[in-house]
Amino acid sequence: MDIADGIKVIDSGYIRQEMAAIYLLRQGDKIAIIETGTKHSIPKVQQALEKDGLDFSSVAYVIPTHVHLDHAAGAGELMKLCPNAQLVIHPRGARHMADPSKLIAGTVAVYGEEKFNQLYGDIVPIDSSRIIEADDNFVLDFDGRELKFIDTPGHARHHFCIWDRMTESMFTGDTFGISYRDFDNGDEIYIFPTTTPIQFDPYELIKSVNKLMKYKPKRICLTHFGAIKPKNKVVEQLIDGINFMSSLGIEYSAQDNAEEKIQNAMMDYFLQELQKMGFTDQDSCREKLKFDVELNTQGLIYWQQKIAPGKKKN
Ligand SMILES: [Zn+2]
Repeated sequence: MDIADGIKVIDSGYIRQEMAAIYLLRQGDKIAIIETGTKHSIPKVQQALEKDGLDFSSVAYVIPTHVHLDHAAGAGELMKLCPNAQLVIHPRGARHMADPSKLIAGTVAVYGEEKFNQLYGDIVPIDSSRIIEADDNFVLDFDGRELKFIDTPGHARHHFCIWDRMTESMFTGDTFGISYRDFDNGDEIYIFPTTTPIQFDPYELIKSVNKLMKYKPKRICLTHFGAIKPKNKVVEQLIDGINFMSSLGIEYSAQDNAEEKIQNAMMDYFLQELQKMGFTDQDSCREKLKFDVELNTQGLIYWQQKIAPGKKKN
């Protein structure tokens, strides 16, 4: 689907329909791919290119917003197929793309081995000579079209967002949270933050959201899922969500059965907010949010146990 001049969104097929997006930016006959999905998403990328009379040789850049595997697992395989492409990645993510062994171990620790193999399959290393590290404010000349990279810690320290000046679109990976199109009600959307392991930092995340808004983007292109308009109400809902999630982490992480308590409180919060918007089928809402609630909870507990104590004043 075209969302603006020269921007196409495709569904990576990760977990379920319209959960994780891949964006294709076209400039002349060149393509930049933002997010890769997993190895299983590659046929969808190929189809989208062919539909426009292009192929893998047209791909100039492959750009995962960060190295979490729903965004970057397919990068190595895709780079093998795209002989003219360079990978653009946050400096803190570059070594994981060249040698994914730690990334794999970290993800297996979160999902378990069986689920890992089913979700991601092989993760292929990328030759470092093909990797461009994009620092804060790095500008890429995409055949005359300026793409600017903005360092946005908070979800992960290896996360950047991409500003496409020509279309005034901001590609936000996981920094600007999650908003599923299943929960649209007319013009109204539902948005919430992702606090997944292991580098969630609410203070940095709110700073990053504000940093993005300074560009006054016409549209925010979320990986989960699709383009939204960043109205004030949407930004407020996102920041309220970050504060609420943090409060859950702070309140429950040290208690017995922390995981269950946080999951229940988070799900109740989502269901209540969605009910206000008219989504009353709680079972169906639960089903769509289960995966995010589990991962968000793990991230909050990790944040409190490993990171927050060092930062706390007496
Ligand atoms: Zn993600």
